[in-house]
Amino acid sequence: MIGERALRELKDVLPVETDPDALATYGRDWTRVYDPAPSAVVFPRSTAEVSAVLAICHRHGVAVVPSGGRTGLAGGAVAKDGELVLSLERMRAIGPVDTIGGTVHVEAGAITEAVHQAVEEHDLSWPIDFASKGSSHVGGNIATNAGGVKVIRYGLTRQWVLGLTVVLADGTVLDLDAALEKNNTGVDLRQLFIGSEGTLGVITEATLKLARAPGHLDVFFFGVDSLAGVLRVFEAARKGPFVISAFEMLTDRCLARLERHRGLRSPLEADAPCFVLLEVEAHDRDALDAWLESVVERELVLDGVLAAGLEQARSLWTLREGISESLSATGLPHKNDVALPIAALTDFCRELEEVFEARYPGWEICLFGHIGDGNLHINVMKPDDMGKEAFLERVHEADRSIFELVAKHHGSISAEHGIGLLKRDGLGYSRSAPEIAVMRAMKAALDPKGILNPGKVFAERDPAQ
Ligand code: ZN
Repeated sequence: MIGERALRELKDVLPVETDPDALATYGRDWTRVYDPAPSAVVFPRSTAEVSAVLAICHRHGVAVVPSGGRTGLAGGAVAKDGELVLSLERMRAIGPVDTIGGTVHVEAGAITEAVHQAVEEHDLSWPIDFASKGSSHVGGNIATNAGGVKVIRYGLTRQWVLGLTVVLADGTVLDLDAALEKNNTGVDLRQLFIGSEGTLGVITEATLKLARAPGHLDVFFFGVDSLAGVLRVFEAARKGPFVISAFEMLTDRCLARLERHRGLRSPLEADAPCFVLLEVEAHDRDALDAWLESVVERELVLDGVLAAGLEQARSLWTLREGISESLSATGLPHKNDVALPIAALTDFCRELEEVFEARYPGWEICLFGHIGDGNLHINVMKPDDMGKEAFLERVHEADRSIFELVAKHHGSISAEHGIGLLKRDGLGYSRSAPEIAVMRAMKAALDPKGILNPGKVFAERDPAQ
């Protein structure tokens, strides 16, 4: 909670919002598991204001939840214990674009898609791309090291950030915004904050590295007989006459939910248990047609299409990008976001099915994801005849089985969504005790009072540590 004196000091700096509707909105992200209960929300307009707010909170021991577009799925932006929400949404300036250096300077609250549009006219792109780009903030993308559908081609967010301005827990401003491609002067502090989920500092500004805008992109859609078959198509695609810019998989169960919610259907005539969306950069359309013919002839796919134009390419992408929304609209999905060595995916999925058939018979699992990166989104759907509380309890227990399988195959329990609150108890499946001890030491050094996003990534005071 925020004490009277702290509140008075905050109000001297900027307006403090305590309207119940605002608290309910800004206290939650897209994780629909926790009840929002922050004490107040502030909307600073500059790095200096963020610094002033944090200095006050540090002095008075007020817990702060840094907040972006709140599209996260791990509870990283949830405020449920009387915290102050520090929303960056009024800091959304974009520009200038440096067309020689290939960079753009932005404030943390800039919307991801708005950044894409701003650099597009210079024939440049910030290649961080995912379904929630119309709401997510660049600051949140950086704080969570966001992934998405183009990771196979461009890598994660951390590869596309050259400079950062960060405010530490006590209000100190770190200007790491030299925006140099080469700067070998000791520990790279920028990388420390990228992916730290708001627990080490608040990112207020950034200089983003830009790529040359891709030329024409071609999109294939395939029906495949199994997950093992999907990996065979992947192998063939890697040898194809093009550069892969996305290799995505979805199952027929995902497609059935999409049809129920949006009336969308596969463009293929044959039914299939798995579907692949492959997006490529190519220069030779004839070579693409020949490659498509060869995968059909070799029976790597049951059926396949190559989008005839931009409109069909877009509608194929909708089949992939509409899944998450369709699962939430037609039921209650419990989401897991795991990474595995690509070669282990078939065994992992078979063992996952076996575990669920044995322990949770009849439960529906909707699998999709960025298979080219070894990243699976496992959505366990609440059975219709089970209450929400009972489901959450049982699915929490099911997570253990999933995490054990992930650890057995040397994977990660969070590929791109982060840890937040939701995956915090599972951190030990993917990070060793010495690693977690180092993370705790960094947290203690940078935020000795533990006011920044407390309880996220790991519990504040863990009796086991
Ligand atoms: Zn994803």
